[in-house]
Amino acid sequence: MAKANDWVRGETDVLALQMDALYKAAPASVLSIFGGLIAMATYWSPQAKSGLLIWFGCICAPALVHIASAVLRHKGFPKGWGPVAWSHLVKVIYLAAGLAWGIGGAWMLSIGDDHQTLVICCLVMGAVTCSFPAIVYVTAYNLFQVPIFAMFTITLAAGDIEYGGLLSIASALLCIALAVMAKGMGSQLTLALRLSLENRQLAEDLAEHGAALERANRELVVETLTDPLTGLANRRQLMNFMRAITGRCALLIVDVDHFKSYNDSFGHVDGDLCLVLAAEALQQSIRPGPDLVARQGGEEFALVLGGLSQDEALAMAELVRANVQALADLHPRKIRRTVTVSIGLAYRDDDRQKTNADLMEDADAALYEAKNSGRNRVCARAMPLTVIRGGKAEGWNGPPSHA
Ligand code: GH3
Ligand code: MG
Ligand code: MG
Repeated sequence: MAKANDWVRGETDVLALQMDALYKAAPASVLSIFGGLIAMATYWSPQAKSGLLIWFGCICAPALVHIASAVLRHKGFPKGWGPVAWSHLVKVIYLAAGLAWGIGGAWMLSIGDDHQTLVICCLVMGAVTCSFPAIVYVTAYNLFQVPIFAMFTITLAAGDIEYGGLLSIASALLCIALAVMAKGMGSQLTLALRLSLENRQLAEDLAEHGAALERANRELVVETLTDPLTGLANRRQLMNFMRAITGRCALLIVDVDHFKSYNDSFGHVDGDLCLVLAAEALQQSIRPGPDLVARQGGEEFALVLGGLSQDEALAMAELVRANVQALADLHPRKIRRTVTVSIGLAYRDDDRQKTNADLMEDADAALYEAKNSGRNRVCARAMPLTVIRGGKAEGWNGPPSHA
C-alpha cells in the first residue's frame, strides 16, 4: 500500500513538473494572436468581416486565458489547485485553440483563393510547429493538433481545391506522424523529468543520511572518550591529553578512601552517586583548558595540571582533597558519609626527561605512600618527598561499626 501511495505521489510530482513547463511556455500564445491577425488581414473583405472577427475572438480567448492562468498559477491562485486541476484547464485551453484554428482554418480554406489558401496553410503549420514544446504533456499537444488536421483533412477531401485529395491524405498522415513523434519524444521528456525528481529525492536522502551519520559519529567519538557514569574524560582521553601536553605538568592520581566499605554499607547505587559528586568536586577544582580530570576506572581519578610550578601543583592537590572532603556538607545523605581521598602527585619540569609512563609510575608510588601513611592526604614525588596533611583519614574511613 505504501508503495502504491509513493507511486501516485511520484506521478503527481511529475505532472506538476509537466505543468510547470507548459505554463512557463504560455507567453508563446501571443504568437497565436499574431498569426490570427495575419490571417484576418489576408482574408479581410466586407463579406467575411463578421466571420473573421468572431474567429479572431475565438483565437484570442484561449491564448489570453492561457497567459492569465499562467500568471495566476505563478502567484499561487486559485489556492488548493493541484497539478491535476491545472492539467484539466490546460487540456481545455489547447482543445479550444485547436478547434478555433481547425474550424476557422477549414472555413478559410473553403472561401479563399490560391494565395489565401497558401497563407492559411502556412499559418496553421506554424501554429502546430510553435506548439511542439507542449509535447512535454502529449495529451494537450494532441488536443491541439488533431482537430486542426482532422478539419483540414475533411475540407481538403470534400472541397474542389487543386490536388485536394492528395493534400487531404498528406494532412491525415502528418497528423498521425506528429502524434507518434509527440508520443515518443513526450515519454522521453517525462522520463527525464521523473529522473530529475528521483535525483533530487536521492540527493535529499543522501544529505539526510550524511547528517545522521555525522551525528552518530560525533556521539560515538564522545562515547569513546567519556566515562558514562560521571561524564568525565575516560582513560583514553587522558592518554591523548597527556601525549599532547607540552611544558611542565603535574599528574595527580586521586583515589577514594575505603570505598569498598562505603559500597558495602550504603549500597552500589549510593556508591555511584558518591562517585558522581566526587567527580563534580574534582571538575570544579581545576581550570578548564590547561587541566583535565579523568576517571581512570573504579574509584580512581586522574588530574593533569598544565603549566603550574611544583608548589602551585601541590596547593592545587590540597585544594582538591579539601573540596572532596567538604562534599559532606552538600551530600544528599551526609550523615556519617564524609568521603576522603588520597592523592599521589608526580611532577615533570620543562626538561621532559620523564615520559608519561614515568609520571604515572611516580604518581602511583606517591598514592601508595599516601594510603600507607594514613589516607586523606597528598603525597608528592619528583621533589623531596612531600606529605601534606599527615595523620589518619578523617570522616568516612570504614563501615559504620568501625567509624
Ligand atoms: P582504599 O582506601 O585502599 O582505596 O580502599 P578501597 O576500598 O577504596 O579500595 P578497593 O580497591 O579495595 O575497592 C574499590 C571499590 O570500589 C571496589 C568496588 O566495588 C568499588 N567500585 C569500583 N567501581 C565502582 C563503581 O563504578 N561504582 C561503585 N558504586 N563502586 C565501584
Ligand atoms: Mg580506594
Ligand atoms: Mg583504588
